[in-house]
Amino acid sequence: MEIACLDLEGVLIPEIWIGFAEKTGIDELRATTRDIPDYDVLMRQRLRLLQEHQLGLHDIQEVIAKMAPLDGAKDFLTWLKAHFQVVILSDTFYEFSHPLMRQLDFPALFCHRLVADDKGTIIDYKLRQQDPKRQCVKAFHALNFRVIASGDSYNDTTMLSEADAGILFQAPDNVIEEFPQFPSVENYEELKQEFSKASNRNISL
Ligand SMILES: [Mg+2]
Repeated sequence: MEIACLDLEGVLIPEIWIGFAEKTGIDELRATTRDIPDYDVLMRQRLRLLQEHQLGLHDIQEVIAKMAPLDGAKDFLTWLKAHFQVVILSDTFYEFSHPLMRQLDFPALFCHRLVADDKGTIIDYKLRQQDPKRQCVKAFHALNFRVIASGDSYNDTTMLSEADAGILFQAPDNVIEEFPQFPSVENYEELKQEFSKASNRNISL
C-alpha cells in the first residue's frame, strides 16, 4: 500500500500569511521564519498584530476565503487521490487553512491549531507535535504504508528524507542545491510523472 504526503503551502495553495498580509495591507505580517528564525517569537508577533488590527477568527477566514488554490492544484489533487491515499502534512493551522481547504474539497489535513476566546480573538496557538511531518511519515511506515512525499521548502526536508521517495516542487534554488538527492520539478505534470516513477505500481498519467 502506498500513501502520498503533500505539503500544503507552496504546493497546493499560496503562502497563507503572505496572501493574508497582501489582502489586509498589514506589511509586518509578511515576516516568515527567514526574517525571524524563532518560530515562537514569529507567532507571538503575528498574534499581537492580529489583536492590534482587531482581526478575529471570523475576519481572518473572510479574508482567506478570497484567496484561491494554485492554478491546477485541484486537478492535480484529484489525479493523485485516484491513485494514492493522500494526506496533507502542513505547518499551517486548521482555522487558517479552512477556507482554502474548502476549495480543495477538504482533503485529509494534519496540521496545528489556533486557540481563540469566545469573541473569536486568537489568544494562542498549539503545535500538534515537534517535527510533525517526519513523525507522520514514521507513523505511516508503522502502519505498513510505503510513503511518497512532496514539498517545497526546508520544513519539508525531514519528511522527504524519512519517506521512501521525496520530490521537491517549485523549491527555491538554495533548497534544490542543498538537497540534490531529491528530484526537483516545476509543475504538476512533472510532479505526476515523479509520483508515477516513485510508485511501485503501474500508474497511468
Ligand atoms: Mg510549503
